Amino acid sequence: MAAAAAHVLVFPFPLQGHINCMLHFATALVGAGVHVTFLHTDHNLRRLGSRAPSAAGSPLLRFMSVPDGLPDDHPRSVADLPELHKSMAGGATGPYRALLALPPSLAPGSPTPSRRAADAGADPTGGFPPVTCLVADGLLPWAFDVAEELGVPAIAFRTVSAGSFLAFLSAPKLFELGELPFPAGGDLDETLRGVPGMESFLRRRDLPSFCRRPNDTDDDVNPALHALVDLTVHSTKARALVLNTTASLERSALAHIAPHMRDLFAVGPLHAMHLTQAAASGSLWLEDDGCMAWLDGQADRSVVYVSLGSLAVISYEQFTEFLHGLVASGYPFLWVLRPDMLGANQDAALQEALAAVGEDRACVVAWAPQRDVLRHRAVGCFLTHAGWNSTLEAVVEGVPMVCWPFFADQQMNSRFVGAVWRNGLDMKDLCERDVVESTVRGAMESDEIRRSAQALAQQVRRDVAAGGSAATEFERLVRFIKDLTT
Ligand code: UDP
Repeated sequence: MAAAAAHVLVFPFPLQGHINCMLHFATALVGAGVHVTFLHTDHNLRRLGSRAPSAAGSPLLRFMSVPDGLPDDHPRSVADLPELHKSMAGGATGPYRALLALPPSLAPGSPTPSRRAADAGADPTGGFPPVTCLVADGLLPWAFDVAEELGVPAIAFRTVSAGSFLAFLSAPKLFELGELPFPAGGDLDETLRGVPGMESFLRRRDLPSFCRRPNDTDDDVNPALHALVDLTVHSTKARALVLNTTASLERSALAHIAPHMRDLFAVGPLHAMHLTQAAASGSLWLEDDGCMAWLDGQADRSVVYVSLGSLAVISYEQFTEFLHGLVASGYPFLWVLRPDMLGANQDAALQEALAAVGEDRACVVAWAPQRDVLRHRAVGCFLTHAGWNSTLEAVVEGVPMVCWPFFADQQMNSRFVGAVWRNGLDMKDLCERDVVESTVRGAMESDEIRRSAQALAQQVRRDVAAGGSAATEFERLVRFIKDLTT
């Protein structure tokens, strides 16, 4: 029987890190001849403005949006994530259901924000085939349930590492062994046996931060941990799980996850996959390209690139410790300080930073073209919060890392950098000026770390090149998706 045209609805949780890698995934699907509708929230599509639709450049790719359930003027800060998670289910379900039930060009309703977003998308043919498959962020379990109820097969996509996914999958074992919950006041350096394949290096402090006791409460277990474990279990029911990782980075974790899943595809790092067309921009902030000219004026491998991702906020004390540590390291630095990172003190703090070091030695931007920065010859190391996208971006460019993890999966990623791949140093959660200074120097000056980083980059680049493990997995996934339509 001839297959109907495959049309995948790609639906990320509306955060920068999730959007970035799922947009690369969408672009790769389009390159394989698959129609893709990429589903933003109304709020994010408005933030992207003309950047998303106009850059799409393919008749196979379109952008649509659904409400996130929060009022327009809601700050949507990192503290509001549980609220956003909850409101998405309420706000988006109706329009999302309508979108799945009919071809998007026939989606019902008067001009809601979602509909206007569709009209702005690139669709010169005037109609896409009906959606044949959903690939949704594992943080959106209701999206799977609605899709399967409507007869649309659902595939789960998780934007974290295989190691972090495995940690949540291993929660029952950790509880059984008494390794969760952490004892009050217990030693965070204690090693753990409950996550298979990681017994030799995983400590309490490396588990996703939700495993720690919540601050200021008597609860044993962080409610977010229960929620994330439930989401992980929910993902095991999907037709398949897609992870933005590759065997040469996480062979063991992937092998331990596979038996729990109906199928598993390790197709990353997606941003490094050879793409036949340019990816549309998913950047919620406007990139400041000025820092590239500043980098051009710096010596090879002399600059510390500092970015803590799209969500982390820091206190004024942390900022000060950080600044002193960086200055004492003696290297010029390029620092991304998002406008919402420091709160009310931000402008004054910024002036202080620049006055302390002088503009030739420091460049501060609100948002950088990070992948271009990491590729620049002047960058010597990356001081990062170790978000999974940032980690993969540094790995692919062979740039040594200094990791200062904040929350979620960042602790696990940092441990892999410091103890498994050895392409950088893990600052753990310590933000003290002496630690910043010594770890930055360590990462900038260690031949061993640089060699490991470069060897890892070569390996991972082979994985995403034609015939490599990730590229082959991606081809298998495209066939899997196309077979769902027969
Ligand atoms: N990023 C960027 N410019 C910046 C800072 C970050 O383009 O100035 C991008 C970065 O390349 C990555 C994403 O934002 O793709 C951040 O995702 P990650 O998973 O590293 O961290 P999160 O923001 O989710 O904490």
